[in-house]
Amino acid sequence: MKVAVFNTKSYERTRLDKFNIGEGHELIYFDFSINEGLYKLTSGFNAVCITISDKIDKEIISRLLKQNINLIALRSAGFDNVDLGSFEGNSIKVMRVPSYSPQSIAEHAVALILTLNRKIHKAYNRVRENNFSLDKLMGYTLFGKTVGVVGTGKIGIAFCNIMLGFGCKIIAFDIIKSDALLAKGVEYVPFDKLLRLSDIISIHCPLNVHTRHLFNKKSFNELKNGTMLINTSRGAIIETKEAIIALKTGQLGYLGIDVYENEQSLFFKDLSDLIIQDDIIERLMSFNNVLITPHQAFFTEEALDQIAFTTIKNFTDFENGLPSENEVKNELSAITL
Ligand code: NAD
Repeated sequence: MKVAVFNTKSYERTRLDKFNIGEGHELIYFDFSINEGLYKLTSGFNAVCITISDKIDKEIISRLLKQNINLIALRSAGFDNVDLGSFEGNSIKVMRVPSYSPQSIAEHAVALILTLNRKIHKAYNRVRENNFSLDKLMGYTLFGKTVGVVGTGKIGIAFCNIMLGFGCKIIAFDIIKSDALLAKGVEYVPFDKLLRLSDIISIHCPLNVHTRHLFNKKSFNELKNGTMLINTSRGAIIETKEAIIALKTGQLGYLGIDVYENEQSLFFKDLSDLIIQDDIIERLMSFNNVLITPHQAFFTEEALDQIAFTTIKNFTDFENGLPSENEVKNELSAITL
Protein backbone atom coordinates (compact mmCIF):
# COMPACT_ATOMS: atom_id res chain seq x y z
CA MET A 1 0.00 0.00 0.00
CA LYS A 2 1.32 3.48 -0.86
CA VAL A 3 1.02 5.85 2.08
CA ALA A 4 1.68 9.60 2.35
CA VAL A 5 3.06 10.04 5.86
CA PHE A 6 2.71 13.68 6.91
CA ASN A 7 4.42 15.70 9.62
CA THR A 8 7.13 13.10 10.23
CA LYS A 9 10.27 13.53 12.29
CA SER A 10 13.41 11.41 11.88
CA TYR A 11 12.70 9.48 15.10
CA GLU A 12 9.39 8.34 13.60
CA ARG A 13 10.73 7.49 10.16
CA THR A 14 13.37 5.10 11.49
CA ARG A 15 10.78 3.28 13.61
CA LEU A 16 8.15 3.08 10.86
CA ASP A 17 10.81 1.73 8.48
CA LYS A 18 11.87 -0.86 11.09
CA PHE A 19 8.34 -2.22 11.58
CA ASN A 20 7.60 -2.05 7.84
CA ILE A 21 10.29 -4.66 7.12
CA GLY A 22 8.41 -7.68 5.80
CA GLU A 23 5.15 -5.72 5.42
CA GLY A 24 6.22 -4.00 2.20
CA HIS A 25 4.24 -0.77 2.36
CA GLU A 26 5.56 2.10 0.28
CA LEU A 27 5.96 4.93 2.79
CA ILE A 28 6.54 8.43 1.39
CA TYR A 29 7.54 10.84 4.14
CA PHE A 30 6.76 14.56 4.30
CA ASP A 31 7.90 16.94 7.01
CA PHE A 32 4.93 19.27 6.46
CA SER A 33 1.30 18.82 7.53
CA ILE A 34 -1.52 17.48 5.37
CA ASN A 35 -3.09 20.95 5.48
CA GLU A 36 0.01 22.45 3.86
CA GLY A 37 0.81 19.61 1.49
CA LEU A 38 -2.14 17.50 0.40
CA TYR A 39 -2.42 19.38 -2.90
CA LYS A 40 1.22 18.43 -3.67
CA LEU A 41 0.44 14.70 -3.72
CA THR A 42 0.64 12.89 -7.00
CA SER A 43 -1.93 10.19 -7.68
CA GLY A 44 -1.52 6.56 -6.66
CA PHE A 45 -1.64 6.90 -2.88
CA ASN A 46 -3.97 4.57 -0.96
CA ALA A 47 -3.73 6.18 2.46
CA VAL A 48 -2.59 9.21 4.41
CA CYS A 49 -0.98 9.00 7.84
CA ILE A 50 -1.22 12.02 10.13
CA THR A 51 -0.58 13.43 13.61
CA ILE A 52 -2.71 15.45 16.00
CA SER A 53 -1.36 18.63 14.35
CA ASP A 54 -3.04 17.77 11.04
CA LYS A 55 -6.62 18.99 10.81
CA ILE A 56 -9.12 16.87 8.87
CA ASP A 57 -12.18 18.80 7.71
CA LYS A 58 -14.73 18.60 4.88
CA GLU A 59 -12.36 20.16 2.36
CA ILE A 60 -9.58 17.64 3.05
CA ILE A 61 -12.08 14.77 2.88
CA SER A 62 -13.34 15.81 -0.55
CA ARG A 63 -9.73 16.11 -1.83
CA LEU A 64 -8.91 12.64 -0.46
CA LEU A 65 -11.99 11.17 -2.14
CA LYS A 66 -11.01 12.74 -5.47
CA GLN A 67 -7.64 10.97 -5.16
CA ASN A 68 -9.27 7.62 -4.21
CA ILE A 69 -7.63 7.67 -0.77
CA ASN A 70 -9.71 5.59 1.62
CA LEU A 71 -7.71 5.49 4.84
CA ILE A 72 -6.67 8.17 7.32
CA ALA A 73 -4.29 6.59 9.83
CA LEU A 74 -3.63 8.66 12.94
CA ARG A 75 -0.33 8.20 14.78
CA SER A 76 -2.08 9.21 18.01
CA ALA A 77 -4.72 8.06 20.48
CA GLY A 78 -6.75 11.29 20.42
CA PHE A 79 -8.74 12.07 17.26
CA ASP A 80 -10.35 15.40 18.14
CA ASN A 81 -8.55 16.96 15.13
CA VAL A 82 -10.70 14.85 12.79
CA ASP A 83 -14.19 16.15 12.03
CA LEU A 84 -15.95 12.79 12.03
CA GLY A 85 -19.25 14.47 11.09
CA SER A 86 -17.87 15.23 7.62
CA PHE A 87 -17.47 11.51 6.87
CA GLU A 88 -21.20 10.74 6.67
CA GLY A 89 -21.98 8.52 3.72
CA ASN A 90 -18.49 8.04 2.33
CA SER A 91 -16.08 5.18 2.41
CA ILE A 92 -13.07 6.74 4.16
CA LYS A 93 -11.90 4.86 7.26
CA VAL A 94 -10.10 6.43 10.21
CA MET A 95 -7.72 4.36 12.31
CA ARG A 96 -5.70 5.37 15.36
CA VAL A 97 -3.30 4.03 17.97
CA PRO A 98 -5.59 3.83 20.99
CA SER A 99 -3.03 2.68 23.51
CA TYR A 100 0.72 2.91 23.18
CA SER A 101 2.09 3.59 26.62
CA PRO A 102 -0.43 5.05 29.07
CA GLN A 103 2.31 4.97 31.73
CA SER A 104 4.42 7.43 29.69
CA ILE A 105 1.71 10.08 29.81
CA ALA A 106 0.81 9.35 33.45
CA GLU A 107 4.47 9.60 34.48
CA HIS A 108 4.77 12.97 32.73
CA ALA A 109 1.72 14.26 34.62
CA VAL A 110 3.45 13.20 37.85
CA ALA A 111 6.67 14.92 36.72
CA LEU A 112 4.71 18.18 36.29
CA ILE A 113 3.21 17.79 39.80
CA LEU A 114 6.55 17.11 41.47
CA THR A 115 8.35 19.88 39.60
CA LEU A 116 5.71 22.51 40.38
CA ASN A 117 5.22 21.45 44.00
CA ARG A 118 8.91 21.12 44.93
CA LYS A 119 9.94 24.00 42.64
CA ILE A 120 12.61 21.95 40.92
CA HIS A 121 12.58 24.30 37.90
CA LYS A 122 13.43 27.25 40.14
CA ALA A 123 16.06 25.36 42.15
CA TYR A 124 17.80 24.15 38.99
CA ASN A 125 18.21 27.70 37.68
CA ARG A 126 19.17 29.16 41.04
CA VAL A 127 21.87 26.65 41.92
CA ARG A 128 23.52 27.19 38.54
CA GLU A 129 23.96 30.82 39.61
CA ASN A 130 25.46 29.83 42.97
CA ASN A 131 22.26 30.76 44.84
CA PHE A 132 21.81 28.00 47.42
CA SER A 133 19.12 29.76 49.46
CA LEU A 134 15.90 27.87 50.27
CA ASP A 135 13.84 31.03 50.14
CA LYS A 136 10.52 30.46 48.29
CA LEU A 137 11.32 26.81 47.49
CA MET A 138 8.94 25.30 50.06
CA GLY A 139 6.50 22.68 48.77
CA TYR A 140 4.02 20.37 50.46
CA THR A 141 3.99 16.65 51.22
CA LEU A 142 1.92 14.70 48.72
CA PHE A 143 1.15 11.95 51.24
CA GLY A 144 -2.46 12.34 52.43
CA LYS A 145 -3.42 14.99 49.85
CA THR A 146 -6.59 14.63 47.79
CA VAL A 147 -6.02 14.15 44.07
CA GLY A 148 -8.97 14.54 41.69
CA VAL A 149 -8.75 12.61 38.42
CA VAL A 150 -11.00 13.57 35.50
CA GLY A 151 -11.18 10.57 33.16
CA THR A 152 -10.13 7.16 34.42
CA GLY A 153 -9.42 5.35 31.17
CA LYS A 154 -6.03 3.85 30.37
CA ILE A 155 -3.95 6.93 31.26
CA GLY A 156 -6.14 7.95 34.20
CA ILE A 157 -5.80 4.46 35.72
CA ALA A 158 -1.99 4.50 35.31
CA PHE A 159 -1.92 7.96 36.93
CA CYS A 160 -4.14 6.85 39.86
CA ASN A 161 -1.88 3.87 40.51
CA ILE A 162 1.20 6.12 40.80
CA MET A 163 -0.56 8.62 43.07
CA LEU A 164 -1.93 5.81 45.27
CA GLY A 165 1.72 4.83 45.72
CA PHE A 166 2.42 8.31 47.08
CA GLY A 167 -0.29 7.75 49.72
CA CYS A 168 -2.75 10.23 48.20
CA LYS A 169 -6.53 9.97 48.51
CA ILE A 170 -7.95 9.66 45.00
CA ILE A 171 -11.35 10.93 43.96
CA ALA A 172 -12.44 10.58 40.35
CA PHE A 173 -14.99 11.76 37.81
CA ASP A 174 -15.83 9.70 34.74
CA ILE A 175 -18.94 8.58 32.90
CA ILE A 176 -17.68 4.98 33.29
CA LYS A 177 -16.33 3.72 36.61
CA SER A 178 -13.27 1.50 36.72
CA ASP A 179 -13.84 -1.59 38.86
CA ALA A 180 -10.08 -1.95 39.33
CA LEU A 181 -9.86 1.56 40.80
CA LEU A 182 -12.96 1.10 42.96
CA ALA A 183 -11.33 -2.02 44.40
CA LYS A 184 -8.30 0.10 45.33
CA GLY A 185 -10.42 2.60 47.25
CA VAL A 186 -10.81 5.29 44.59
CA GLU A 187 -14.09 7.14 45.13
CA TYR A 188 -16.14 8.42 42.17
CA VAL A 189 -17.75 11.80 42.86
CA PRO A 190 -19.73 14.37 40.83
CA PHE A 191 -17.58 16.90 38.96
CA ASP A 192 -18.44 19.85 41.23
CA LYS A 193 -17.50 17.85 44.32
CA LEU A 194 -14.18 16.89 42.75
CA LEU A 195 -13.49 20.58 42.12
CA ARG A 196 -14.26 21.51 45.73
CA LEU A 197 -12.30 18.71 47.44
CA SER A 198 -9.12 18.30 45.41
CA ASP A 199 -5.69 19.69 46.26
CA ILE A 200 -4.46 18.55 42.83
CA ILE A 201 -6.56 17.83 39.73
CA SER A 202 -5.25 15.90 36.73
CA ILE A 203 -7.17 15.77 33.44
CA HIS A 204 -7.23 12.47 31.51
CA CYS A 205 -10.50 12.56 29.53
CA PRO A 206 -10.65 13.10 25.75
CA LEU A 207 -11.60 16.40 24.16
CA ASN A 208 -15.12 16.30 22.76
CA VAL A 209 -18.18 18.52 22.67
CA HIS A 210 -18.86 17.71 26.32
CA THR A 211 -15.38 18.34 27.67
CA ARG A 212 -14.43 21.45 25.66
CA HIS A 213 -13.82 24.19 28.28
CA LEU A 214 -14.89 21.85 31.09
CA PHE A 215 -12.54 24.00 33.15
CA ASN A 216 -14.14 27.42 32.75
CA LYS A 217 -14.96 30.43 34.92
CA LYS A 218 -17.62 28.50 36.85
CA SER A 219 -15.37 25.51 37.57
CA PHE A 220 -12.38 27.67 38.56
CA ASN A 221 -14.62 29.47 41.06
CA GLU A 222 -15.44 26.14 42.72
CA LEU A 223 -11.78 25.25 43.39
CA LYS A 224 -10.10 25.33 46.79
CA ASN A 225 -7.79 28.31 46.94
CA GLY A 226 -4.37 27.29 45.61
CA THR A 227 -5.40 24.09 43.75
CA MET A 228 -2.90 22.59 41.32
CA LEU A 229 -4.30 21.77 37.86
CA ILE A 230 -2.46 19.40 35.51
CA ASN A 231 -3.46 18.84 31.88
CA THR A 232 -1.73 16.23 29.72
CA SER A 233 -4.89 15.49 27.74
CA ARG A 234 -6.01 18.19 25.28
CA GLY A 235 -5.57 21.95 25.58
CA ALA A 236 -9.15 23.03 24.90
CA ILE A 237 -10.47 21.16 27.95
CA ILE A 238 -9.24 24.25 29.81
CA GLU A 239 -10.51 27.73 28.85
CA THR A 240 -7.08 29.31 29.00
CA LYS A 241 -8.13 32.92 29.46
CA GLU A 242 -10.17 31.88 32.53
CA ALA A 243 -7.18 29.92 33.87
CA ILE A 244 -5.14 33.13 33.66
CA ILE A 245 -7.77 34.96 35.74
CA ALA A 246 -7.83 32.10 38.28
CA LEU A 247 -4.01 32.24 38.50
CA LYS A 248 -4.16 35.98 39.12
CA THR A 249 -6.69 35.58 41.95
CA GLY A 250 -4.76 32.65 43.46
CA GLN A 251 -7.74 30.26 43.10
CA LEU A 252 -5.40 28.29 40.89
CA GLY A 253 -2.14 27.85 42.80
CA TYR A 254 -0.25 25.98 40.11
CA LEU A 255 -0.86 25.07 36.48
CA GLY A 256 1.09 22.33 34.69
CA ILE A 257 0.19 21.80 31.04
CA ASP A 258 1.61 19.61 28.30
CA VAL A 259 -1.15 20.72 25.93
CA TYR A 260 -2.52 24.14 25.06
CA GLU A 261 -5.68 25.08 23.21
CA ASN A 262 -3.85 27.05 20.51
CA GLU A 263 -0.84 24.76 20.35
CA GLN A 264 -1.20 23.99 16.64
CA SER A 265 0.79 27.00 15.48
CA LEU A 266 3.46 26.63 18.18
CA PHE A 267 4.18 23.12 19.36
CA PHE A 268 6.60 20.71 17.69
CA LYS A 269 8.43 23.68 16.08
CA ASP A 270 11.61 25.58 16.94
CA LEU A 271 10.42 29.20 16.98
CA SER A 272 13.34 30.46 19.04
CA ASP A 273 14.33 33.17 16.54
CA LEU A 274 10.77 34.48 16.04
CA ILE A 275 8.48 36.83 17.95
CA ILE A 276 5.57 34.80 19.37
CA GLN A 277 2.28 36.40 18.34
CA ASP A 278 0.15 34.42 20.82
CA ASP A 279 -0.30 36.75 23.79
CA ILE A 280 -2.18 34.16 25.86
CA ILE A 281 0.70 31.68 26.02
CA GLU A 282 3.12 34.57 26.60
CA ARG A 283 1.04 35.64 29.61
CA LEU A 284 0.94 32.06 30.89
CA MET A 285 4.72 31.80 30.62
CA SER A 286 5.11 34.90 32.75
CA PHE A 287 3.70 33.13 35.86
CA ASN A 288 6.33 31.43 38.02
CA ASN A 289 3.76 28.82 39.14
CA VAL A 290 2.98 27.71 35.58
CA LEU A 291 4.92 24.96 33.87
CA ILE A 292 4.43 24.32 30.15
CA THR A 293 5.89 21.40 28.23
CA PRO A 294 5.43 21.11 24.44
CA HIS A 295 3.14 18.06 24.12
CA GLN A 296 5.92 15.68 25.09
CA ALA A 297 4.09 13.42 27.55
CA PHE A 298 4.03 10.60 24.97
CA PHE A 299 7.68 11.08 24.05
CA THR A 300 9.39 7.94 25.32
CA GLU A 301 11.27 5.21 23.44
CA GLU A 302 8.61 2.66 24.37
CA ALA A 303 5.67 4.80 23.27
CA LEU A 304 7.26 5.71 19.92
CA ASP A 305 8.01 2.06 19.16
CA GLN A 306 4.44 1.08 19.96
CA ILE A 307 2.98 3.92 17.85
CA ALA A 308 5.07 2.86 14.83
CA PHE A 309 4.28 -0.84 15.31
CA THR A 310 0.50 -0.26 15.56
CA THR A 311 0.48 2.23 12.67
CA ILE A 312 2.10 -0.31 10.32
CA LYS A 313 -0.33 -2.98 11.58
CA ASN A 314 -3.22 -0.60 10.84
CA PHE A 315 -1.99 -0.24 7.22
CA THR A 316 -1.73 -4.01 6.85
CA ASP A 317 -5.13 -4.73 8.42
CA PHE A 318 -6.75 -2.13 6.18
CA GLU A 319 -5.03 -3.50 3.07
CA ASN A 320 -6.20 -7.03 3.92
CA GLY A 321 -9.76 -5.88 4.69
CA LEU A 322 -9.51 -7.12 8.28
CA PRO A 323 -11.79 -5.69 10.97
CA SER A 324 -9.81 -3.66 13.53
CA GLU A 325 -10.54 -2.39 17.01
CA ASN A 326 -8.34 0.61 16.12
CA GLU A 327 -10.96 1.94 13.73
CA VAL A 328 -12.50 5.20 14.98
CA LYS A 329 -16.28 5.13 14.98
CA ASN A 330 -18.30 8.32 15.03
CA GLU A 331 -20.20 7.37 18.20
CA LEU A 332 -16.92 7.49 20.20
CA SER A 333 -16.92 11.27 19.90
CA ALA A 334 -20.51 11.55 21.06
CA ILE A 335 -20.10 10.20 24.58
CA THR A 336 -22.33 12.22 26.87
CA LEU A 337 -21.69 13.36 30.42
P1 NAD B 1 -9.28 6.35 27.27
O1 NAD B 1 -10.29 6.34 26.18
O2 NAD B 1 -8.68 5.06 27.72
O3 NAD B 1 -9.88 7.08 28.57
C1 NAD B 1 -10.63 8.26 28.51
C2 NAD B 1 -11.58 8.25 29.70
O4 NAD B 1 -12.28 9.50 29.69
C3 NAD B 1 -12.63 7.13 29.62
O5 NAD B 1 -12.69 6.42 30.84
C4 NAD B 1 -13.94 7.88 29.32
O6 NAD B 1 -15.08 7.24 29.89
C5 NAD B 1 -13.64 9.21 29.98
N1 NAD B 1 -14.51 10.26 29.48
C6 NAD B 1 -14.98 10.44 28.22
N2 NAD B 1 -15.79 11.51 28.18
C7 NAD B 1 -15.83 12.02 29.43
C8 NAD B 1 -16.50 13.10 30.01
N3 NAD B 1 -17.30 13.85 29.28
N4 NAD B 1 -16.30 13.33 31.33
C9 NAD B 1 -15.49 12.54 32.08
N5 NAD B 1 -14.84 11.47 31.59
C10 NAD B 1 -15.01 11.23 30.27
O7 NAD B 1 -8.15 7.37 26.78
P2 NAD B 1 -6.64 7.46 27.29
O8 NAD B 1 -5.78 6.57 26.48
O9 NAD B 1 -6.61 7.36 28.76
O10 NAD B 1 -6.30 8.96 26.82
C11 NAD B 1 -6.93 10.09 27.38
C12 NAD B 1 -6.56 11.32 26.58
O11 NAD B 1 -5.17 11.61 26.77
C13 NAD B 1 -6.69 11.17 25.06
O12 NAD B 1 -8.02 11.43 24.63
C14 NAD B 1 -5.73 12.19 24.54
O13 NAD B 1 -6.43 13.41 24.33
C15 NAD B 1 -4.74 12.41 25.67
N6 NAD B 1 -3.37 12.00 25.31
C16 NAD B 1 -2.37 12.90 25.46
C17 NAD B 1 -1.07 12.55 25.15
C18 NAD B 1 0.09 13.51 25.32
O14 NAD B 1 1.19 13.25 24.81
N7 NAD B 1 -0.06 14.61 26.03
C19 NAD B 1 -0.80 11.27 24.65
C20 NAD B 1 -1.85 10.35 24.53
C21 NAD B 1 -3.14 10.73 24.86
